[in-house]
Amino acid sequence: MKKILITGAAGFIGSNLTKRLLEEGNFVIGLDNFYTGQRENIKDFLNNKNYKFIEHNVIEPYDIESDEIYNLACPASPVHYQKDPLFTFKTSVFGIINALKLSKKTGAKLLQASTSEVYGDAQVYPQNEKYFGNVNPNGIRACYDEGKRAAETLICDYNRLYGLKTKIARIFNTYGENMDVKDGRVVSNFIIQALKGKDITIYGDGSQSRSFCYVSDLIEGLILLMKSDVSTPVNLGNPDEFTIKDFAQYILNLTKSSSKCIYLPLPADDPYKRKPDISFAKAKLGFEPKVKIEDGVKKTIEYFKARIEK
Ligand code: NAD
Ligand code: UDP
Repeated sequence: MKKILITGAAGFIGSNLTKRLLEEGNFVIGLDNFYTGQRENIKDFLNNKNYKFIEHNVIEPYDIESDEIYNLACPASPVHYQKDPLFTFKTSVFGIINALKLSKKTGAKLLQASTSEVYGDAQVYPQNEKYFGNVNPNGIRACYDEGKRAAETLICDYNRLYGLKTKIARIFNTYGENMDVKDGRVVSNFIIQALKGKDITIYGDGSQSRSFCYVSDLIEGLILLMKSDVSTPVNLGNPDEFTIKDFAQYILNLTKSSSKCIYLPLPADDPYKRKPDISFAKAKLGFEPKVKIEDGVKKTIEYFKARIEK
């Protein structure tokens, strides 16, 4: 039985990862400070004898023995990470330093939840791991983007200095069950607006694109990466690309909603075209997203229907 520590364990990805790792017979220690995470997401685990929860802010050091660490703690939705940019930056930078120190001390393997945001408003399409990115270091997204880039730097330097077993997952837009109703990202916003008959809020003219990955595929990728001997960054996501305008229509069709689309100002530095090149993950990990967008979105609609009614 492996002992696995997950930071950010009450969040969307953290709680889905916890479920999968418990199902596989591991002992999971979940750590979170509920900045964006929900108690609802962990309540089913609390009676499991193979689960332990610790309320803690990763900006402060912690000392927990484990075989593996998944470092997921960080607000991920632009609305939330921009609310307190200093907290966001510190969470990424001090959070990874604390995880690296722990990995050095205990010998635990460490996987970092990095992001497609390290590519910024990419000038390369689709984005592959060799691209260094196009990030505005002074903009409103920098607290997140540069925090995650600095975390990658720290991981690579610790690796070169001390030979730790580290992994870097560059996660592209992922959606599914356990996203918070107030998350603010596009998939949850559009589904909730459509279900409630409210206006669908398209930022800008909606010609910008994103590629959406269902959460179970992402979790599979994270576990494959943790098992592998790959230490360089790996893109994980689904290349299924939509313009935001087309995605709004797609959600309206699937929910059979009569909501109308309204156009609001595009936030600064919003990346224009995002699609992962996952050939490296395919070759090295055998990673292949399996869930079709229609199936994933339908499940997510059912999840939000139930959560809104609560
Ligand atoms: P989320 O906001 O649902 O989860 C983040 C979790 O981290 C929350 O439970 C929050 O309370 C916790 N947290 C934040 N700051 C903390 C701190 N200082 N100390 C302890 N806990 C803290 O977001 P998510 O979508 O589940 O994202 C998880 C990770 O994956 C994040 O690191 C994010 O950057 C990364 N990621 C996610 C996506 C995506 O599409 N979902 C894409 C790229 C990267
Ligand atoms: N977006 C939108 N309406 C919303 C939320 C987001 O048009 O209610 C757009 C946003 O401007 C961006 C894309 O959808 O172009 C994805 O935004 P999200 O916040 O989900 O994540 P990002 O990939 O930008 O971090």
